[in-house]
Amino acid sequence: MGRAVLLTHQTIVISHGEISQSGNAGEIVPPAGAEMINGAGKTIIPGLVMLHEHLYYTIPLETFFKMGETPFTFFNVAEMPSSFPRMYLAGGVTTMRTAGSIEPQTDLALRRMIGEGKLIGPDMDVTGPYIERKGFDIPSINIIKDTAEAAASVNFWADKGCTSFKMYMHITKGDLRNVVREAHKRGLKVTGHLCSVTYREAAEIGIDDLEHGFMASSDFDEAKKEDAFDYPEAHQALQNLDVNSPKMKSLISFLVAKKVALTSTLPVFEPVTNREVIQGGGGDAVVDVVKERVTTGWKARQFKDSAAANLFARELVWEKQFYDAGGLLVAGTDPTGSGRTIAGYADFREIELLVEGGFTVAQAIKICTLNGAVYLKRDKEIGTISVGKKADLVLINGDLSKEIRNIRNTELVFKNGVGFDSPKIFASVKGKVGMN
Ligand SMILES: [Zn+2]
Repeated sequence: MGRAVLLTHQTIVISHGEISQSGNAGEIVPPAGAEMINGAGKTIIPGLVMLHEHLYYTIPLETFFKMGETPFTFFNVAEMPSSFPRMYLAGGVTTMRTAGSIEPQTDLALRRMIGEGKLIGPDMDVTGPYIERKGFDIPSINIIKDTAEAAASVNFWADKGCTSFKMYMHITKGDLRNVVREAHKRGLKVTGHLCSVTYREAAEIGIDDLEHGFMASSDFDEAKKEDAFDYPEAHQALQNLDVNSPKMKSLISFLVAKKVALTSTLPVFEPVTNREVIQGGGGDAVVDVVKERVTTGWKARQFKDSAAANLFARELVWEKQFYDAGGLLVAGTDPTGSGRTIAGYADFREIELLVEGGFTVAQAIKICTLNGAVYLKRDKEIGTISVGKKADLVLINGDLSKEIRNIRNTELVFKNGVGFDSPKIFASVKGKVGMN
């Protein structure tokens, strides 16, 4: 395992897609004829390995009216096959896991086309369609009817090339047991955005990862019934939980002992008051009509989100407690929610928010690089700047250790030793997010 350290005056040599030399400037002699990039005043970090990404995005709908006058709308997402893969790359993400898919066939095809060099984007660990029971009116979500179908869908989508699975909020312990069994037989991993199953129950069954930090934990709802979904109660219990609760400490110790990873997805929970509409400085990327709707929702919640802001602040502390207890904290952005979170830009924001939460810059970068690689069991080839690893690197203008917002000044992203111009890629998607 690498250390979370920042070094100065380093020279890195890339050749044949790999890091061939790395060390103190002056001790490393670049090969004759090598193309030189002067990094004075700049920061270089490993390519980001982000584990809660999607190739789709929330398009807020207007309110419909169903029979009578009851207001009705539904949670609407749309695949962004053209803009999102390249935006992740421009945001420094060289490896990612999609954490749930609405068009698994599209995600798999995009991974293939990126591999064939037809599109630019990160290497992808593609998660199958959500494994969920009937419950929400989210038209794009996949619904199973029983535990047998839970197992069958793992095998169906694993045969098609999916390498991860995600359980959702209404599943049963039986569903999870079957999915874990079938996925683990193939060496594949299972994560969950849970509610009907508690974190402790999921860890006992053998889940590998839990999404959204502790925000999806129903463990603190004292009246919770087995396999029952009661999000309002679960959420209220979190709202009431003390930041130094011994119950949380006990859950953290249990998860660490069971080696369950925890995925931080701070951007999707970031409060609105006095904060950006589109996070990470990505406002220009969103098509006008969608940006207008997102902005309307953001304005409506200004100065009305104190409870959410308060829980967000405690979530930051709990993630730090998990990390400090030796837990494998990994990260992602979750470009869903109210539409403020978009590919690439939100990855910058996740790093900034980890630092807001008290992590050092080096720890925040480690969470977003090496820890993701460890989870994916790819830490021998990616995740740190080490000789022999793939040349996946991000060059940032400015000293990141002095000002974390410098992450937004990402200049070059190297994937397999090939450099991509981040500002140029972002310029190419101006006004496109929300359209394709
Ligand atoms: Zn998600």
